[in-house]
Amino acid sequence: MTARDDTPLWLFADQLGPATYGGEHAHRDVLLVEATSALRRRTYHRQKLHLVLSALRHAQRDLGDRAMLLQTDTYTDALKRYRRPVLVYEPTSHAAEQFVHRLKDQGLVADILPTPTFALPRADFADWAGDRTRFRMEDFYRDQRRRFDVLMDGDEPVGGRWNYDTDNREPPPKKQETLAVPKPYQPREDDIDGRVRHDLDRMSIDTVGNDGPRLFAVAPAEAQRALARFVEHRLPAFGRYEDAMMGQDWAMSHSLLSVPLNLGVLHPLDAVHAAEQAYQRKAAPLSAVEGFIRQILGWREYMWHLYWHFGPGYLHNNTLHARTALPKWWRELDADAVTAACLHDALTGVRDRGWTHHIQRLMVLGNHALQRGYHPRELTEWFATAYVDGFRWVMPTNVVGMSQHADGGKLATKPYASGGAYINKMSDYCGDCAYDPKKRIGEDACPFTAGYWTFVRRNKDLLAQNNRTRRAVSSMERLADLDAVLEQETARRRF
Ligand code: FAD
Ligand code: SF4
Repeated sequence: MTARDDTPLWLFADQLGPATYGGEHAHRDVLLVEATSALRRRTYHRQKLHLVLSALRHAQRDLGDRAMLLQTDTYTDALKRYRRPVLVYEPTSHAAEQFVHRLKDQGLVADILPTPTFALPRADFADWAGDRTRFRMEDFYRDQRRRFDVLMDGDEPVGGRWNYDTDNREPPPKKQETLAVPKPYQPREDDIDGRVRHDLDRMSIDTVGNDGPRLFAVAPAEAQRALARFVEHRLPAFGRYEDAMMGQDWAMSHSLLSVPLNLGVLHPLDAVHAAEQAYQRKAAPLSAVEGFIRQILGWREYMWHLYWHFGPGYLHNNTLHARTALPKWWRELDADAVTAACLHDALTGVRDRGWTHHIQRLMVLGNHALQRGYHPRELTEWFATAYVDGFRWVMPTNVVGMSQHADGGKLATKPYASGGAYINKMSDYCGDCAYDPKKRIGEDACPFTAGYWTFVRRNKDLLAQNNRTRRAVSSMERLADLDAVLEQETARRRF
């Protein structure tokens, strides 16, 4: 079956912006579906379900007569009820892609279009990847800058260097509880949010985490406001404190744009261009602007394309043979069961907002999971369901690859494991903690410091073969109390 000029579009909940329903498709009707079986399939964070339903219903309101929102048990039920073959964009997960191809075979889908919600088309990435076996984000990022002509001066990067942010990372400012930057944009909840909350209460779906005020943009107009506020007030401080953590400041100078980007209501190139323009009118320094653009045009796009390039089997990698099941307190986001100040704060963030910033994901939660050998696939599932910006495509490379090194180094050259000294340097947590980051033995031994040595011991053969981690193994071999540390950590039940 071929698509006709009046074939409607069926949009998934992460394809809800003008890039999908505007431009050459602006005349088409739009089908939106709330499939309860999809909401129930996994135990999601309550606020994640709220954001998804709110985004769908705001899209329906914005599109007016063009849109029909069907509430059914399954997507197939909705398509059968709709009775018109639809056009769909390539969905954002392997499973959903197979599903829409099956629907096409059944005649329910007329055609499948390339997804327009990322900057670089998938086919172009396949050309870029060619027969490369080693991937470097830096190579990809520079080519993205050239291709989209972002922060370029002819063939050269503006300012003469590609990287301005990475040598510019600072610990949090001393004697200050929060970064002195204006608060992030917070949407005003409306009647749609009220109904979503009411419906979620009524549907009695199993969820994790606390309900709370909606913190993230779910509609294109809100996303533009969030972007404008970030660029005007917070972008100048971006980058400098990107690796820092502050107990009293959950957002620091992060953009909080991952949700609107991942829902498709904000296009990545709009965010990139807004930041570039701020540099051009001297409203933000190059270091901050370059740092932000690197995240969006570099990291985000890179993770998206590698998800497809590595294929569905990537999720099953487990090079470090990590087999520990996620503990109950972790699965249930029971932050109050945790003593370690850094871990307590990160888990509180997940429980109360379904969001923490990058360095808490990587160097607190991911680091803890790596040290304790949590199963990478279980952990991927946890991140995908407990985080409000967790979508299938974004998780495997971030969790299996970057955070757990379970792919044997395809994505990151060394595991992101560190002891309490790193957390102490880059955060203000340790001063108020019951543990001491310098201690690896005793009642107040820091679980990250002691955990680091147990991690090195468990993986010493692999770490000894890597130039970047060999020294950790020799340092471990010089520890006189290693056996006692291992015994203590094997017996540790509380963190
Ligand atoms: P900012 O710090 O303001 O960065 C700007 C944007 O850059 C983000 O909005 C995001 O779109 C993009 N970005 C930067 N790094 C990455 C990356 N590694 N992968 C994808 N996008 C990136 N990001 C998600 O969008 N969803 C996730 O579920 C997710 N889970 C993660 C899990 C782990 C273990 C790790 C290490 C990283 C994860 N990330 C995820 C990447 C990153 O932590 C978040 O995108 C970021 O913290 C979102 O907050 P922000 O919008 O304020 O980001
Ligand atoms: Fe975290 Fe250890 Fe510092 Fe406590 S002492 S906050 S557990 S790093």
